[in-house]
Amino acid sequence: MATIQWFPGHMAKAIRQLEENLHVVDIVFELVDARIPQASRNPEIERLIKDKPHLMIMTKNDLADDQQTTSWIKAFKAQGLPAIAVDSKANITTKAITKITQSILADKLSAELQKGLKERPVRAITVGIPNVGKSTLLNRLVNKRAAQVGDRPGVTKGQQWLRSSSKLQLLDTPGILWPKFDDEETGQALALTGAIKDQRFASDDVALYALKFFRQYYPTALTQRYKLQESDFDLSDVDLLLKLTKLFGMKDDYERASDRLILDIRKGKLGRYTLNRTTGDQDD
Ligand code: GDP
Repeated sequence: MATIQWFPGHMAKAIRQLEENLHVVDIVFELVDARIPQASRNPEIERLIKDKPHLMIMTKNDLADDQQTTSWIKAFKAQGLPAIAVDSKANITTKAITKITQSILADKLSAELQKGLKERPVRAITVGIPNVGKSTLLNRLVNKRAAQVGDRPGVTKGQQWLRSSSKLQLLDTPGILWPKFDDEETGQALALTGAIKDQRFASDDVALYALKFFRQYYPTALTQRYKLQESDFDLSDVDLLLKLTKLFGMKDDYERASDRLILDIRKGKLGRYTLNRTTGDQDD
């Protein structure tokens, strides 16, 4: 899905559509990138969702730091938000999401059965910022067969329910929210993971942010990948970037070197990482 430029009109329309769709679902699947659980959250979401049951799904868990993911799941739970981390490419994901969804809605579903209502699938919508993995997860959940179960009253015209199993159906149109990056670090974290491809963030600034971050939290990944010496960590971030530029054989083209470093990190060549740290975190 292409990155979207957020103009006020787009936002208003996206919000309106999401609010309409919320009426017809039992639960909202809010997707965040497990590497940036904070930066990839839209701050308006809680207000929009109100009292709807709500599951946090941390996508791209295969790229994130396991220890941090565990802490984030705990942190979300402490805020009353059930959370699960997934790799949307893995088969097991559908089962895991179905199971946690059933447990979140257990009281509601059993109350319906007691009233004599027929057992029915739970209906969900996925929401999240562009590139967080909404389409990929949807395809996983409906197993690419994308069996449409037809229009239902109340659903915005042209939208369909997709069948995941007898227990779960999903709205085919995800809710799209915009990332909020009014502080520099959030913007850089979004840019480094590829969540935004925005000219506002110069690649050398993002690379300097990345170097500062990796030397603090994942120093071994950095030294091993680029065969650096311990003593290179005495250099300033700028000098370290210049050193890498030389090591890449790019003379003094630090912008090209920045792009290379960013791409390596995005592709996971420096290993798994989480940029937004939970509080109480110790340096590794
Ligand atoms: P959307 O804009 O929210 O619909 O995001 P997409 O589903 O198009 O995914 C954006 C990018 O993230 C694509 O390149 C996907 O292959 C990738 N992606 C999505 N989910 C995962 C995941 O769980 N793990 C990994 N490694 N990549 C993922």
